[in-house]
Amino acid sequence: RSANLFEALRASFPQDLDRWAIECADGPDIGQRYTWRDLDRATAMMANLLASLDLPPASRIAVQVDKSVEALMLYLAVLRAGHVYLPLNNAYQAAELEYFIGNAEPAVVVCAGKNFGWVSKLAFQSGVPWVFSLNDDRTGTLLDRALQMSDVFETVPRQADDLAAILYTSGTTGRSKGAMLSHGNLLSNAQVLDRYWGWSTEDVLIHALPIFHVHGLFVASHGALLAGARMLWFNRFDPAAVVGRLAEATIFMGVPTLYVRLLEQSGLTRQACAGMRLFISGSAPLLIDTFQAWQQRTGHTILERYGMSETVMLTSNPYRPDDGDRVGGTVGRPLPGVGLRILDDAGQPCGPGDIGHIQVQGPNVFGGYWRMPEKTREEFTADGWFKTGDVGRADARGYVTIVGRSKDLIISGGYNVYPAEVEGWLNELPGVAESAVIGVPHPDFGEGVIAVVVPRAGASLQGEVLIAALKDRIANFKVPKHIFIQTELPRNAMGKVQKNVLREQLGKTFA
Ligand code: ATP
Ligand code: MG
Repeated sequence: RSANLFEALRASFPQDLDRWAIECADGPDIGQRYTWRDLDRATAMMANLLASLDLPPASRIAVQVDKSVEALMLYLAVLRAGHVYLPLNNAYQAAELEYFIGNAEPAVVVCAGKNFGWVSKLAFQSGVPWVFSLNDDRTGTLLDRALQMSDVFETVPRQADDLAAILYTSGTTGRSKGAMLSHGNLLSNAQVLDRYWGWSTEDVLIHALPIFHVHGLFVASHGALLAGARMLWFNRFDPAAVVGRLAEATIFMGVPTLYVRLLEQSGLTRQACAGMRLFISGSAPLLIDTFQAWQQRTGHTILERYGMSETVMLTSNPYRPDDGDRVGGTVGRPLPGVGLRILDDAGQPCGPGDIGHIQVQGPNVFGGYWRMPEKTREEFTADGWFKTGDVGRADARGYVTIVGRSKDLIISGGYNVYPAEVEGWLNELPGVAESAVIGVPHPDFGEGVIAVVVPRAGASLQGEVLIAALKDRIANFKVPKHIFIQTELPRNAMGKVQKNVLREQLGKTFA
């Protein structure tokens, strides 16, 4: 029996293949609808094209294109053809692409037509035999060739632990690593989320996330496809346009910055959200301010969840009231089938409320990092748990709070300082929009705590005043010794604050 993820998704298509599945909500084909039959035929044609290249099984297909429905179909076609999908952030430039192509050795590279010149040269120099183009307006050599192919294709059988995708991590803490995810990893997680979040064929998902990342590609797309639900497909996130379509939708998924930008829209009202059943946030911490402002404005409580490229989804706040409330500032409890434990520095289990290292286990956890056997060994414990690199605590009910990454932990004068805790206090001070707390080399303390604070619009802040206010509230060793006021924090494509960039910029504060 085959465990190909595509077969499970295909089996979830509705009986009536002429219903529409995806509608383009922006871009050159706005208003264009794709039926379930269109998805089946287009993925068959692309899979036939891949098959015609006579590649060895499980070849890597690297894809760096602008978001489009066809790009999603290419992903599905790669699964269908039994190859391995390797999406790349479209912000990556030549030097980065060279690294990824050199590291992954794909058999096929698909790029945007506007980049074909330099990408194909780079790919051919690295020995990649095939390069195609795919644009967001349904043009490009990939589609030209696929159109010559039959629209019937027998899905290639795969085992549960066969590789389905290599997902490079966001590179927030250093160089991206390729997480090797199997058909079984992806399908098991999608099935758990399907039940836990109550997906149904009646759902309409607003899909406004990039599809080179776990959030948009797996959590959002698998969710809709496995439920036979519909998608309103945005190639780009435009807050006004998204608000304009909320009335027709039932589910929205976003990273925290998307919620912040939606809150700036006057059209975001209770009435606009009346048909919605679920707003989900993840990929980075959701500020309690955003959580509360959303509740007040829309009457909906954002459901925050936690996951990573290596594991897909790990924890979630409850969807059903019977399962408990959604607690702001927490990422909820481990999903069914996911083992999660928190250990102290000595490797002993932490009690409720105690902060430690988060480790996980389950059918969703990846097999290892692509061509990094050392790193893979380091990140798994002897008894088979994966070290997430995140630091957090769980309360007596099992709700997990992430307090930072172990790489961002600060040890100042022998004391542990958890950045998220200090950021929480800073964010409560008047005039503060957001903050990032980091440790930098300090001659006396080893590391000295410093902070970068972004003022709210119209507020003017002084570092010394904020420092004085914090001294009334928390222990002195946690209080930043310097606070820098900046208009924004450096973020990567997924909206994650790049603390390594800040550490580099401000590393000489005490030198
Ligand atoms: P790299 O591993 O290359 O440094 P990255 O860890 O940011 O990059 P991803 O796999 O995209 O790459 O992100 C996973 C991380 O995102 C988690 O380990 C966690 O730190 C963070 N994260 C995800 N969801 C949440 C959340 N709801 N709250 C806080 N942090 C989250
Ligand atoms: Mg990571």
